[in-house]
Amino acid sequence: MRKKIVAGNWKMNKNSEETAHLIAQLRTEIPQSDAEVIIAPTFVNLAEAATQLKGSFIEVAAQNMHFAENGAYTGEISADMLKSVGVRTVILGHSERRAYFGEDDALLAKKVDAALKAGMRIIFCFGEELDERKKGEHFKVVERQLKNALFHLDGPSWEHIVLAYEPVWAIGTGETASPEQAQEMHAFIRKTLSDGYNKQLAEEVPILYGGSVKPGNAGEIFSKADVDGGLIGGASLVAADFAAIVAAA
Ligand code: PEP
Repeated sequence: MRKKIVAGNWKMNKNSEETAHLIAQLRTEIPQSDAEVIIAPTFVNLAEAATQLKGSFIEVAAQNMHFAENGAYTGEISADMLKSVGVRTVILGHSERRAYFGEDDALLAKKVDAALKAGMRIIFCFGEELDERKKGEHFKVVERQLKNALFHLDGPSWEHIVLAYEPVWAIGTGETASPEQAQEMHAFIRKTLSDGYNKQLAEEVPILYGGSVKPGNAGEIFSKADVDGGLIGGASLVAADFAAIVAAA
């Protein structure tokens, strides 16, 4: 039985004071749940958030990291630095990183390797753009993204991977994939894993859905057989909404 996961991607939102405040709200408002709860504040607030949440039911994740262990990479953060402040999970491949910072499959494969080498867990994001879906290329695009960045991994490495299918046309747009569209793609992803590895591995890898998940649609999306929870953007910044989404998981 796969455990449900609800992860909040705060993106470039919340200063230090606001981060502490939202975390305090989440600690009181999120109901008791079997779901795993993760939040990803900005880099500068990670250390403080990890300290504030030490021993609690909420885990802290980073939104990105560099592939190198250290060195002349101005403005970048390494896996070791994340681990040194208590962060053991990192989001990689988010569509905003791909679109605005030029991150491609080859770079992401290097980041994946570096994170795994450092013993971190990865929430790996991927998904098609609107024109790709309109042209009926969404399965092909998703398969390519997965294969290029992840299929060089050996089977045991997948224990540290959480997949997050995020159709780009549904991120921050208010437009959500229908529960049926999400289920159809998640089943396809599982089949791709089964074909590339084996059925057991395909059944064990958590696959989250991301794209305008809100309290009003979370329950139906999460009820689909191959949807194991969500990666939440906008709604993770409002304690009551994120709490309601966790409750729906
Ligand atoms: C995201 O950025 O990962 C995301 C899913 O955003 P939103 O929930 O705002 O669509």
